[in-house]
Amino acid sequence: MYDYLIVGSGLFGATFAHLAHKAGKRCLVIEKRPQLGGNVYCEDVEGIHVHKYGAHIFHTNNKEIWDFVNSIVPFNRYTNCPVANYKGKLFNLPFNMNTFYQMWGVTTPEEATARIDGQKAEALASMQAAGVKEPRNLEEQALLLVGRDIYEKLIKGYTEKQWGRPCTELPAFIIKRLPVRLVFDNNYFNDAYQGIPIGGYNKLIDGLLEGVECRVDTDFFADRAHWMSVADKVVFTGPIDAFYDYRFGQLEWRTVRFEQEVLDKANYQGNAVVNYTDRETPYTRIIEHKHFETFGAAVYDNPHTVIFREYSTEWKPGMEPFYTVNDEKNNQLYLKYKALADQEYRVIFGGRLAEYKYYDMAPVVERAVNAFRTQK
Ligand code: FAD
Ligand code: UDP
Repeated sequence: MYDYLIVGSGLFGATFAHLAHKAGKRCLVIEKRPQLGGNVYCEDVEGIHVHKYGAHIFHTNNKEIWDFVNSIVPFNRYTNCPVANYKGKLFNLPFNMNTFYQMWGVTTPEEATARIDGQKAEALASMQAAGVKEPRNLEEQALLLVGRDIYEKLIKGYTEKQWGRPCTELPAFIIKRLPVRLVFDNNYFNDAYQGIPIGGYNKLIDGLLEGVECRVDTDFFADRAHWMSVADKVVFTGPIDAFYDYRFGQLEWRTVRFEQEVLDKANYQGNAVVNYTDRETPYTRIIEHKHFETFGAAVYDNPHTVIFREYSTEWKPGMEPFYTVNDEKNNQLYLKYKALADQEYRVIFGGRLAEYKYYDMAPVVERAVNAFRTQK
């Protein structure tokens, strides 16, 4: 008899298993995919760690979590500085002095502020003329925050591709906290710590699960009664609606299709992330995986490179559940399942799928640490 059966080997399951194992508990991890690691799993292609379930950049302000993951495997100095390609012209992201120079040729914060304020005032005036008091949609919100030039070149097309509908039909809140930086700083994140595990994410997962009994290709639902009987407690990190046989209906997700290409060249785009912000290019961005882990001249040590074109796709049952759709309808549905989960005394629900929450990696690790600490 195990102390814990852990369903799912993503960061939540692996972190929980690690702590429980270290505390002397008997743990079994079961994973329905053919490999461990959940969405951070990387596949080796031409000596490059390819983020098979989408590009993952670890970032956090929480020193305890940063120290914890670094105690398993040291992280490199990767800093996310995505570039936007709008009809062949390149702009730095997030919106900062480099972007404003590329957009308007302005070289000082005062000049940039004057440009942005002028365009914001135009947007406000046309809203007032139409009798609109609060932005009614994402387009109006973005125009008020950054003005028309940035909205049309860097936001509109990308957002409409990503969400599959016009900005005028998307809620304003999605874009409420757009960072506008009046300094020359292309670092996408404001967090104190960021990076990629040296040697890839599999090292992090293997380190967390060292000494823990794990079985892959094993679906909890294939023999639920058996799996519920093998341990005192069950840590469930799969979709919560599946755990309850979809009795209130299915939660909705957004998904992404990755089109992989291996190229016989050392360096395709010179950066890990290039967003295509026009409406016509069908994909949202191209990821070139080697740049997460090789820097400077070392990029040329490997004559090959691997790229992913990402297509944001409407989710249908059976597809990978990637992003939660936290609209009113789905949040209400989740609360019904959560009410059932709150009554369970033997099952702990944790992570992105079980809590129906768009967690980044660091908060997932933190949640798992807390979930274990509060266990009796
Ligand atoms: P998962 O990693 O999804 O693990 C759950 C595991 O449970 C899976 O392996 C699944 O196969 C398994 N499972 C499910 N059902 C069963 C079952 N019935 N039986 C057995 N096993 C089962 N975060 C960042 O911090 N930075 C980023 O740059 C970033 N980029 C992302 C890009 C994409 C495309 C996506 C989708 C997410 C991204 N994230 C990013 C978020 C990150 O992936 C999550 O925070 C983290 O992976 C969640 O870990 P988890 O353990 O909750 O879930
Ligand atoms: N966004 C944009 N242009 C870009 C990148 C992002 O307009 O080049 C907007 C878009 O609406 C997106 C939101 O900012 O949904 C958040 O993007 P981010 O890449 O930070 O989030 P993620 O895709 O990881 O959820």
